Amino acid sequence: MAALSARHIHGHGTPEAAWLASPMLRHMPRASFDQLAGDAPRLVVVAPHPDDEVLGCGGLIADAVRRGRDVLVVAVTDGEHCYPALAAWPPARLAELRRAELVAAVTTLGLPEAAIHAVAIADGGVRGAGAALANAMHALLRPDDLALVTWARDGHPDHEGSADALLDAAARRGTRVLQYPVWGWHWMQPESADFAPARALRFDLDDALRAAKAEAIACFDSQLGLGPVAAPEPILPAHVAERFARPFEVFLA
Ligand SMILES: [Zn+2]
Repeated sequence: MAALSARHIHGHGTPEAAWLASPMLRHMPRASFDQLAGDAPRLVVVAPHPDDEVLGCGGLIADAVRRGRDVLVVAVTDGEHCYPALAAWPPARLAELRRAELVAAVTTLGLPEAAIHAVAIADGGVRGAGAALANAMHALLRPDDLALVTWARDGHPDHEGSADALLDAAARRGTRVLQYPVWGWHWMQPESADFAPARALRFDLDDALRAAKAEAIACFDSQLGLGPVAAPEPILPAHVAERFARPFEVFLA
């Protein structure tokens, strides 16, 4: 997810219990894999930072693999500026670790390492590289892909910049797009209408998809505060990580 510098993202955010009890999520229209992906032979999942693709779409990716669809994961940045206060973990070292964590996660979901396409834009600099990113996406996309990207109003500048670039490229290519919230779950309130006018769809995960997603999330030790980094203030503390243990994912059409 990268450093929390956006204006909306601070404190503990909305508790997961409030989301799970919310009428908005309970009554959200369900969509099956076929309803979401249609006949798209390939899903292109755009992740501003290594972990966003799994947090937002890990279950959908696992289902695509199960169904024999192709998946391309576009790693926009390496998330190398996530811990600027940790002297032992300068950006180059974190980039290497986070790339390795991403390989482990996509492998866990059943994809080959070659399913990752790294754009290597600087972490925190996505907005400034918007035109270059849009052109890179345009070169990758096919009209019959289903493209997925972080929500254009997610509250994190890299997430919103990735969405703007992808939406621009997809419009030129004629590619269908679904957006996935990540940080929106932190700052939104369950009774709010922040998703309007988007059409929000709930994709329920069966036990196998939930397990695959949990296993993939567990690959991101550096973000969970585990492993060699052991950051005292990890990006994904338990109260944040639990939002992505839900038995469903939400996509905005
Ligand atoms: Zn992120």
